[in-house]
Amino acid sequence: MITQEKLLEVRDLKTYFMTDRGTTRSVDGVSFNIKHGEVLGIVGESGSGKSVTSYSVMGVVDAPGKIVGGEILFEGKDLTKISKKELRHLQGNSISMIFQEPITSLNPLLKIGYQISENIILHQSMNKRMAKQKSIEMLKKVGIPRAEELYYAYPHELSGGMRQRVMIAIALSCNPKLLIADEPTTALDVTIQAQILTLMKNLRFDLNTSVMIISHDLGVIAELADRVLVMYAGQVVEEGNVFELFKAPKHPYTLGLINSTPKINDTKYQLDSIPGTVPSPSEMPTGCRFHPRCKFAMKKCVSQEPFLYELPSGSKIRCWLHEDKEVNLYDKS
Ligand code: SF4
Repeated sequence: MITQEKLLEVRDLKTYFMTDRGTTRSVDGVSFNIKHGEVLGIVGESGSGKSVTSYSVMGVVDAPGKIVGGEILFEGKDLTKISKKELRHLQGNSISMIFQEPITSLNPLLKIGYQISENIILHQSMNKRMAKQKSIEMLKKVGIPRAEELYYAYPHELSGGMRQRVMIAIALSCNPKLLIADEPTTALDVTIQAQILTLMKNLRFDLNTSVMIISHDLGVIAELADRVLVMYAGQVVEEGNVFELFKAPKHPYTLGLINSTPKINDTKYQLDSIPGTVPSPSEMPTGCRFHPRCKFAMKKCVSQEPFLYELPSGSKIRCWLHEDKEVNLYDKS
């Protein structure tokens, strides 16, 4: 059940990468929140800053990357200001993460049961016997057949889908309050993707964990999220309720993403695509960062950067078209 209480509040987050070639503003003033029990989807093309946002929340941004501004409040505590020890305690205990490639996240030399139990022993005060029992329980919960037997399997003995289920079992084994899933289905076959999505949906209701899911795939976001954040070139360009956002996208970039996604009843031979590519964070266009690719661009868009407006509906939008009125992009396209 979604409550009104905020679990995570990210305010004006700035994560930059300092390289020999200059400063890359990967996440540039991003703000959002996640309520208890809510699923927030973050969508955008590669290079939009969505994964760096999730790594920043998880506290795993490596050098030369650095959080240079903003706050990440988890239950009111600013994660950018706590000690490494406190952060380690939160990671795996209150906040867990699953990644795109389960094979690189699991240790190939250790049996999967050991890897789950190790995580439980590390984060919860359980002895080995209790941890084993809980691990088998978690394997069953994520739909691993013959859990008692496969507890002793090595990662290479399992399929990609099974390995991702094991990663979900590890991530959820300590009852985290927030699960961050970065492209959790991208590396899997389509049928397995559907199974993992169904599993995540069921677990979300079962455990009431808040989820932040990052994906370039709008289908994944539509399936799981309650609210969606659309990112472009390190900024939030649109935020809204999942139904409204898909039904009536307001930002030209969101519209472009939706129009370039195949639909089951589409009779068109060719999909629409957004011209051009996401700009390099070291060479941001002036004005609206999307203007070189936007078919609605006006003179003002080239020189003035739009603010993130809050509309009466509660949606947020960064586009001059919405400066003082609601605009239906479908009418203009
Ligand atoms: Fe397009 Fe201008 Fe809106 Fe940017 S501000 S998305 S260029 S219309």
